[in-house]
Amino acid sequence: MSLLEVNKLTKNFGGVIAVNDLSFEVHSQEILGLIGPNGSGKSTTINLICGIFSSTSGNISLLGKELGPLSPNKRVEFGISRTFQNIRLFNDLTVWQNLWIAWQDETSIKKNWLSTWFGKSNDQRDKIVELLRFSGLDSRENDLAGNLSFGEQRRLELARALAAKPKLVLFDEPAAGMNSHEIKDLKKRILSLKKSGITVLLVEHVMDLVMNVVDRIVVLNFGKKIAQGTPQEIQENLDVQKAYFGSK
Ligand code: ADP
Ligand code: MG
Repeated sequence: MSLLEVNKLTKNFGGVIAVNDLSFEVHSQEILGLIGPNGSGKSTTINLICGIFSSTSGNISLLGKELGPLSPNKRVEFGISRTFQNIRLFNDLTVWQNLWIAWQDETSIKKNWLSTWFGKSNDQRDKIVELLRFSGLDSRENDLAGNLSFGEQRRLELARALAAKPKLVLFDEPAAGMNSHEIKDLKKRILSLKKSGITVLLVEHVMDLVMNVVDRIVVLNFGKKIAQGTPQEIQENLDVQKAYFGSK
């Protein structure tokens, strides 16, 4: 069954066609890799799915419901969370506070900020403790986000994305800047997301990670889909080799 359907999606920026008549599906509980050379439209596709950009034409639907008119916040409520290519955290707040804010945002609780803060309900505490455990940040809850290592900041960002209980998580180059140890850890976490029933769309340049973690791959070049298939099919695809390496 398909969770997300992207249908004839096009996005123009002035004269640049960043995404060009793109159609693909993300099946429920799969990990789909979206790859392509620099500038091929991967981040634009993610921004269109989470509603940061509006499309020039075409449409996107989640569980059969068209997302077109929904704001980014509504899309989060509807089940779409994301991480960013560049980490976005509140560096001067603690790990716990970063998660607390994400949780507040995502559950749209409009209570008085302070009374909620001091009257931390069990429900909310439990949820944050669960997120801390999942991201392996239990021992860091009182540390400032800005003092975390790069890998830990990435994990905190993922934990924030998970606060909304998403159906679909969009990753934009989560392994960028990571060392091999951190990439191994990321792989484990992405696989455990899938196990817990979450669907993943993974934009990534680190081929070792993509090829070892995804179920299927869609390949973009100049905003167009040039191939889709299993990791093995994609590695053997001549059009893909040509796009990446210019080989004939
Ligand atoms: P990728 O993530 O695959 O590297 P992008 O989606 O960021 O590629 O970019 C695709 C194309 O769209 C590029 O040519 C890029 O310069 C252009 N582009 C992306 N975002 C904008 C923007 N906000 N304004 C103008 N052009 C953009
Ligand atoms: Mg990008």
